[in-house]
Amino acid sequence: MKSEIKKSIIIHYSEISLKGGNRGFFERMLKLNLLHALKDFPGVQPHFDFGRFLLDLPDDVPLETVVERIKSVIGIAYFSVAYRGDQDVEVLKEQVYEGIKNYSFDSFRIKARRADKSFYLNSTQINEIVGARVVEGLKKKVDLKNPELTCHIEIFNNKVYFYFGRHQGIRGLPVGSSGKVVSLLSAGIDSPVASYRMMTRGCKVIFVHFHSFPFTEKTSYYNAISLAKMLTKYQYNSHIYLIPLAQIQQAIIPNAPAKLRLILYRRMMVRLAAKVAEKEKAKALVTGDSVGQVASQTLENIAAISQAVTIPILRPLVGLDKESIIEQARELGTFDTSIEPCEDSCSYLVPKNPETKAKLAQVLAAEEKIGDIERLAWQALKETEMVKLYYPVSEGN
Ligand code: ATP
Ligand code: MG
Repeated sequence: MKSEIKKSIIIHYSEISLKGGNRGFFERMLKLNLLHALKDFPGVQPHFDFGRFLLDLPDDVPLETVVERIKSVIGIAYFSVAYRGDQDVEVLKEQVYEGIKNYSFDSFRIKARRADKSFYLNSTQINEIVGARVVEGLKKKVDLKNPELTCHIEIFNNKVYFYFGRHQGIRGLPVGSSGKVVSLLSAGIDSPVASYRMMTRGCKVIFVHFHSFPFTEKTSYYNAISLAKMLTKYQYNSHIYLIPLAQIQQAIIPNAPAKLRLILYRRMMVRLAAKVAEKEKAKALVTGDSVGQVASQTLENIAAISQAVTIPILRPLVGLDKESIIEQARELGTFDTSIEPCEDSCSYLVPKNPETKAKLAQVLAAEEKIGDIERLAWQALKETEMVKLYYPVSEGN
């Protein structure tokens, strides 16, 4: 391809286009997220054209980095690196010919699409003229049904683009378009996946991690921060609250039956997370629970834990088996950190056989004996640390 041909990226999105009257809002959110993802390339500005986002690339931007960044923007169906072609089909056919020469293939097709019907040729005419040039020059076969290579030509707003392949996007809704949630992030496998699933539904995720330092090591604390950092790639800036649960656990352990400890810890966790949600103006909590996976996740225990708060608790993994969750964690790149052995607040002094069918009356009675829950919560929040995370990481943040 001759170097004077300029490159652009054409971004197509899917689900947002179903949003009717709110469409403009979703498009603005997607644009904002594209700007965040490419904030260190101020010369690349997305603009909206005929239902797509278009990014004209200055010659000096590193294409691979831009492509990698766009791949992790939630809300994109697919995108292509396109060449800006000439409006004169006689020039265009030479440009396409020069471009297609770089690929190895036996059969091909040209697939022109005009969003802009005022163009002087229709799609079939464009396909025929450009296709004939490729056949003449390379002696390749046209195959309209099952070609090895497709050259797409898109015409909109009197501009012509052509490209040869596409990158799949993550799809879903742009982060931030559905509001905020507070996700309880352990250092385990499930909760990072649950947080990511909520991001793909347009939620901005605030992270909360509970640690039992100094009674346990600080590994889960650091691992939770590492996991939140990995997930920040999809939402550009994050808050992670690191809440000490040790004092609360010291109040629970001598005063409540050992079998109920885990449920009492978890009830305090959701209470504290609800307070963070209030501060952050988040509308729901998120956990990585999946029914029946471990003792705290039976239907009875889920009910006993949920009863501690009125804010909704979303459990996006509730019906998934461990294998599929692990597969998603591997794809996300969180798996290796998640399987590092570490003790967090949920494993601290929990008996081998915790209650699996908690009765609410017994749980409430046990909680009565712990002491002043509000005061314990207030103390833990007073000692909470908050870390801000950014992506992409650049000087100044
Ligand atoms: P995970 O793999 O996410 O740790 P799990 O299978 O180990 O889940 P549990 O330990 O019962 O199951 O935790 C269930 C959910 O409770 C977690 O997915 C997470 O949302 C929340 N949770 C548990 N421990 C903590 C913690 N220390 N800090 C924050 N959230 C936690
Ligand atoms: Mg866990």
